[in-house]
Amino acid sequence: MPKREYTCVACPKGCTVEVEFEGDEIKDITGYNCLKGKDYVEDEFHDPRRILTTTVKIKNAKYPRIPVRTETGVPKDELDCCLDELTEVELEAPVDIGYTVIDDVCSTGISVVTSRSLEEVTVSKLE
Ligand code: SF4
Repeated sequence: MPKREYTCVACPKGCTVEVEFEGDEIKDITGYNCLKGKDYVEDEFHDPRRILTTTVKIKNAKYPRIPVRTETGVPKDELDCCLDELTEVELEAPVDIGYTVIDDVCSTGISVVTSRSLEEVTVSKLE
């Protein structure tokens, strides 16, 4: 029976958990030290997700890019799509922390928000 090994990251202990499976079905899980870890590995097997953190362009700010992140984990298969969609985004300062950059990134139902604020920078005109 095929096996897959996971490192549980649900706590700092980092247990190695082994999953035996047939197709989409888990047949056995071993190596976890608590139910939280078992749940984590079951989720990783059936629906692996990651919080996406990156930056997007911003105009009229001190920096040319602003950090953003998804509000919850995005299915791993959608990460490239989300990055592509964020490449097209350009914000304009001022922007507050938590500002919604995209409401439903790649039709996942998940929002992307800013991780910091950036004030507008006014460039003084040369005389
Ligand atoms: S299985 Fe439990 S104890 Fe082990 S890393 Fe995961 S959460 Fe921590």
